[in-house]
Amino acid sequence: MEICTIGGYEEVGKNMTAVKVGESVFIFDCGFFLPGIIELQETEKIGYSLPGLRNVGGVPDDRVLDKLDWRRKVKGIFLSHAHLDHVGGLPFLISRYPNVDVFGTPFTIKVLESLIEDSKIKVNNKIKSVHANSTHKIKTENGEIVVEFVNATHSTIDCAYVALHTNEGVFFYALDLKFDNYPTLGLPPNYRRLKEIGKQKVKALVMDSLYSGTEKKPGGEKVAEHLLEEAFSKITRGEKAIFITTFSSHIERLNNIVKIAQRTKREIIFLGRSLAKYVNCAIQIGKCPFKNKIRIVKYRREVDSMLKKVEENRGRYIVVCTGHQGEENSILDRISKGQTSFQFREGDNLIFSSSVIPTEVNIESRKKLDSKLRKMGVKLQSDVHVHGHGSREDMREMIRILKPEHLIPAHGSQEQEEPLINLGEEFDYELGESSHLMKNGDVLKI
Ligand SMILES: [Zn+2]
Repeated sequence: MEICTIGGYEEVGKNMTAVKVGESVFIFDCGFFLPGIIELQETEKIGYSLPGLRNVGGVPDDRVLDKLDWRRKVKGIFLSHAHLDHVGGLPFLISRYPNVDVFGTPFTIKVLESLIEDSKIKVNNKIKSVHANSTHKIKTENGEIVVEFVNATHSTIDCAYVALHTNEGVFFYALDLKFDNYPTLGLPPNYRRLKEIGKQKVKALVMDSLYSGTEKKPGGEKVAEHLLEEAFSKITRGEKAIFITTFSSHIERLNNIVKIAQRTKREIIFLGRSLAKYVNCAIQIGKCPFKNKIRIVKYRREVDSMLKKVEENRGRYIVVCTGHQGEENSILDRISKGQTSFQFREGDNLIFSSSVIPTEVNIESRKKLDSKLRKMGVKLQSDVHVHGHGSREDMREMIRILKPEHLIPAHGSQEQEEPLINLGEEFDYELGESSHLMKNGDVLKI
């Protein structure tokens, strides 16, 4: 087995890994990376081109597969979940893999299809929507190989670990990893199946190591639900505006926001293109329990006329909108710059059900946004959030269950990955022998 760690091993973003077994190659994820542009924001058209994206390192550098002569051997592309750092690069790279089928869970595939539509790129590949906790046969040079999607919990719906059952043992892809045993939407992680796989020979485990240096366990989504309840209880009542912002792809969080927001008896409005995109994907696959409880306003002109109504009758609505990272052209950015007919006033409320993604661009933009809003007298409640990545104990648990022969940290800078190498020492993994600190474009033969 050979593993090429194409992207996401030196940064948080553009995740992509290829595995070669015999003469067949399989690709796991194909993400996007542009610091500060974590969501595709409010742009009506995505004007990115592949050469442009390659220039700024926005997509994984899969040209390494040409050097290795692996590209023509690719037999399947498997997607773990719908986050852009896992699927966002695929529309731009997919034409390099003609006739290769793409597999992902229903929400992931819906999001991929909507990204493809936005990019206006013509795609001829078969795109297959498969449920979590299912197995599929893929044709190879000399027979078949089984790929399995195992239900996982994270911070969007329909997440899966991907297990490739090869004759050398299982290649197990655990991005992104967090064990939430009491999810508020969807099923808990499929421990039963993980344990069964652990009893087989797991040849290699590629694992999300983002918080491998942190022992503190993040709360589950139930904790976030409670934090939201707290935040709502502290809202200034009366004729004050209530705005909430969160990650557009976090359907479980949006569901909790709606559950709690309903208690105010105000009308719940979702504003902005990226919220509309993800919520519509969830509706299309039948996984949006709050679809009849909200109004979605997508396009700029309608957004602006809705904001005018909120301005005139601020006690009537709760607005869920984009802009939690202070992204340019998001709803909050435009409001703060006076570009809409809504203006925040003293005592209006804004809840950030998110944390600042720690890149320079995001930290700076949020700082600017917060200071503008505070000057307007807005009551800000920040970090009403739990993130979707497990800490060191979750990783210990995964190693205990799967007992892989080889351990490969992923999903972070080298500094973020190193603590997982150290954690591996607790289980007698040896760096360079059975644990491997990989760089983008490296190949590991095991
Ligand atoms: Zn993710």
